[in-house]
Amino acid sequence: MAYASVVLDIPTRALDGAFDYAAPEALAPDAVVGATVLAPLGGREVVGYVVAVSEEPPASVAPEKVKPLAQVLAAPAFDEKSAEVAAWMAREYACPLADAVRPFLAPGQKVKVVRDAPGDPWRLVSDSVGAVDERWAGLTPAAADWRPRRNAPRQRAVLEALAAGPQRVAELSATIPGAASAVAALAKRGVVAVESRRQVRGSGGQTSLSSAAAPRPAQLTAGQQAALAAIDAAREAANGDVVLVDGVTGSGKTEVYLDAIERSLASGRGALVLVPEISLTAQTVGRFRSRFGDAVAVLHSRLSAGERFDQWDLVRQGVARVVVGARSALFAPLSDPGLIIIDEEHEASYKQDKNPRYHARDVAARMARARGCALVLGSATPSLEALARCREGSWRGAAWTRVSMPERPGASRLPEVRVVDMAEQFRGGGRSVFSAPLSDALRDCASRGEKAVLMLNRRGFANFLMCRECGCVPECPSCSCALTYHERGHYLACHTCGRTWPVRAYPDPSCSCPNCGSRYMGAYGIGTQRVEDELRMLLPEGVEVIRMDADTTRAKGAHQRLLEEFDAAASAVLVGTQMIAKGLDFPEVTLVGVINADTMLKLPDFRAAERTYGLLEQVAGRAGRGESPGQVIVQTYWASHPAMRAVEGHDRALFLEAELAERKEACYPPYSRLGNVVLWGKSDAACRMASKALADAVRASVGEKPGWEVLGPTDCVKARVKDNFRRHVMVKSPVDADLGGVLGAAVSSLGALKGINMSVDIDAYDMM
Ligand code: ADP
Ligand code: ZN
Ligand code: ZN
Repeated sequence: MAYASVVLDIPTRALDGAFDYAAPEALAPDAVVGATVLAPLGGREVVGYVVAVSEEPPASVAPEKVKPLAQVLAAPAFDEKSAEVAAWMAREYACPLADAVRPFLAPGQKVKVVRDAPGDPWRLVSDSVGAVDERWAGLTPAAADWRPRRNAPRQRAVLEALAAGPQRVAELSATIPGAASAVAALAKRGVVAVESRRQVRGSGGQTSLSSAAAPRPAQLTAGQQAALAAIDAAREAANGDVVLVDGVTGSGKTEVYLDAIERSLASGRGALVLVPEISLTAQTVGRFRSRFGDAVAVLHSRLSAGERFDQWDLVRQGVARVVVGARSALFAPLSDPGLIIIDEEHEASYKQDKNPRYHARDVAARMARARGCALVLGSATPSLEALARCREGSWRGAAWTRVSMPERPGASRLPEVRVVDMAEQFRGGGRSVFSAPLSDALRDCASRGEKAVLMLNRRGFANFLMCRECGCVPECPSCSCALTYHERGHYLACHTCGRTWPVRAYPDPSCSCPNCGSRYMGAYGIGTQRVEDELRMLLPEGVEVIRMDADTTRAKGAHQRLLEEFDAAASAVLVGTQMIAKGLDFPEVTLVGVINADTMLKLPDFRAAERTYGLLEQVAGRAGRGESPGQVIVQTYWASHPAMRAVEGHDRALFLEAELAERKEACYPPYSRLGNVVLWGKSDAACRMASKALADAVRASVGEKPGWEVLGPTDCVKARVKDNFRRHVMVKSPVDADLGGVLGAAVSSLGALKGINMSVDIDAYDMM
């Protein structure tokens, strides 16, 4: 008799863990690790996932008491190693085992079963039934001397993407809105050929599409060679070793990934590549396609559910050996990866914000250990965690190595950065959102017929009071972090210790600044709309102003359309929120302005400075990508802040030194781990009681252990959301502590709490 250990997918923590079932002879061949099954539980049948199989009956129950599985619902989605990683995730992130297993399942698979008639077998409900578009598009020889009209930006985008090699039409549509009709128009003109590759799963079918592979650089830079050598060594060590490719934007990191993957494939192993969702463009996909053709599967949230399933299935069948995708592609069923690559490793979007609240970088490190492959992290502004581990040389049993690529291959130069002190501007009589230097630079840029990008940081203000004259934001005397301003009740609060101060007068202009006595104190905020209006007054007619923010990009494809407008304009200014900082690559942009660089610095978040620095470096990198040199103007009330000085001097050390000293002093990551447990519910009293009980349970469990600290409970910064009261408990632990295990146990010890919801966030990024 065979036995299966099954994780039941039911929404209760009480039945967490794996349960043993017998696999009757008829089911045994299919009831393998990774299979989805139907298992009896107290008179009903529930969906579950097999995480282990055995020939031995379980020790805990008498063999005749072991219930048999009812049915096998789906073929295996993961193997033993993935099951091992899922079990680790459940403990590491203090989440139910079923939550940790779910990311490994086929895209679109639901936890629901249906059947046509009583007595029929059950079927899993799935989203992924849509028709799959197998059409591929590629350039014909006629494309070489054909140019699209100027007002056909989509055709141009499609041609540029296909210049790297043929792509699936579905993929193009996912990254370029309206691509399908552009492809049709181009096909009519004979410059693009479309063919069906239904047989993509078999032996590499013949194709008539010309594959104009992207040119390989004749010679790798010294940095690229060093990075490749380190990656090879890590892959051959088969120990889960990590290589951090620390290279400025445009230093050739992607080229390193491509070569490293080629070597992995040559050794008979595959590769997983994660890029931030926003970087998953036709150009990126095109570069991988042109090098590896049909061996690439792309997992993209903008593909249809059917497409996504199909790509995932190609990986499972072993046809696709290179997987390119966003965060969740980490869980693709690639059997033997030699490499896992995470591009833009510092991106906060690699942290999942719902259960399981994992960080892709850390899960990838665990996965690389389990599979004996290398982990490659790439960034121009690596996370402090990654840098710290490289300085240590090892983390969790694997070696961490940093390779620096400080230069771009050609003659491209970094832009000149100027920091403008806005308090000084204000004292000099400046009341505009633009400082004198920025106004001048904008007018010059327009008169030269060039383009500018203006970034307005939308995160952070409104929640704070700020003095317009000196930039002072009231701080907590005992925690030295910015006080948040609570409009309801007009009080200031410290999110860390919970103290509050009444500010009857705020934001009435009669109140004054605690620092300089100025009366210009208020909940500070400018909108993109206001910037747009002031710009139109400043600039001559004929200069287009394009606004890109949450309002103007709500419609599907709006983001791309605005970028196309900006691209097609003769002279234009693009005004936008943080969303414009990344991925924008227009050689005509010679000026980048940051309206308010410091609003994020005041967020009650210990990573605020790191995020500010990373964002400023990113946005500065948008200037001067072409022939003409670029200029960057950063407006701030905090010109002396190390993040500003570092960006101005292109010197990361200036920032790191100051930031690491502060983190060490306050015992924040990377010198500790930080967990955040948020509790919310309709009743304030119940929420207070539960959060107190939780804090007590954690305090009882960690006692006086060195390196542990329990903060709170306090109200969350967002103290009320959708009629729920929100409180939280923050826990700091030593870097090598089992934080998930401790918090998971504390949560379980509380039992079920009526009317209270709870989220446990280990290595939290969002503390609000
Ligand atoms: P990153 O990923 O670091 O931003 P890319 O790999 O995209 O950098 O490279 C930037 C540009 O430089 C690309 O156009 C790429 O083709 C080119 N490039 C990369 N490596 C080299 C090299 N060794 N010699 C010349 N050009 C290179
Ligand atoms: Zn405080
Ligand atoms: Zn002041």
